[in-house]
Amino acid sequence: MSGRLDGTVALVTGASSGIGAATAQALAAEGARVVVAARRRDRLDALVGQIHEDGGRADAFDVDITAPGHAEALVERIVDDAGRLDTVVNNAGVMLLGPALDASAEEWERMVDLNVTALLRVTHAALPHLVAAADDGPRGVADLVTVSSVAGRRAAANSAVYNLTKFGVTAFSEALRQELAESHVRVGSVEPGAVDTELAHHIRPGVREDTQAWLDSIETLKAEDIADAIHYMVTRARHVAINELLVRPTVQK
Ligand code: NDP
Repeated sequence: MSGRLDGTVALVTGASSGIGAATAQALAAEGARVVVAARRRDRLDALVGQIHEDGGRADAFDVDITAPGHAEALVERIVDDAGRLDTVVNNAGVMLLGPALDASAEEWERMVDLNVTALLRVTHAALPHLVAAADDGPRGVADLVTVSSVAGRRAAANSAVYNLTKFGVTAFSEALRQELAESHVRVGSVEPGAVDTELAHHIRPGVREDTQAWLDSIETLKAEDIADAIHYMVTRARHVAINELLVRPTVQK
């Protein structure tokens, strides 16, 4: 297999399902050696098996990136094993919707811990390696892609803390982009609308049903549609940076 990401190493967080799994497959099909990280080992092993079957290269790391030190250890293991890190897709996330009055503090903390704090830890650990990869890598450029959301551009009732996390990571991404532009580390965010994944399954009963009913009532995006957007971002020529991609289902208002 040969492709535009030959000789590069990519990390995709939250790759055991949905957008992360589809993205890992897309990057591997383009020649990247892909490290897939999440907690569910069985899902990761199945994904790695599929990528190998398709002729790609992949390794699985089962890790809870919210656990102290684990995000940093993940990045160091990758660089120790593979010698480099060219692409990071910050994708792991959780969306626990519901009225703020009824929410538990634990739900809010879970969203902040994963969508923000763990993402910062992965990013902080990865940045020096991305700068090095842009400097000496096969493409002369490295990529940091954050999976934000339409919820990072438009706030809505029952989504306050999810909005907080996604507005936050979009802003973080843009500020970082400016800092790293001259290093040829491209920092961009992709902002999906409704995608058919397991994301809504974690919403508490009583709220989940309404979200699921809405998802079932429209023609949603597939995980592969967002993987396609990420693939587009990371395969541009060295002088082209896609800073933000907002991708909604056609019928989503
Ligand atoms: P999924 O629930 O399918 O994927 C979430 C991924 O995050 C899973 O692989 C999960 O794996 C992983 N994850 C959860 N907790 C942890 C943890 N503590 N450590 C490591 N990995 C973890 O949903 P999506 O694919 O939809 O979500 C991916 C991203 O897309 C999220 O950031 C989400 O906010 C964003 N998004 C999704 C939209 C949608 O409509 N689906 C719309 C807009 C944005 P595991 O449980 O094995 O750890």
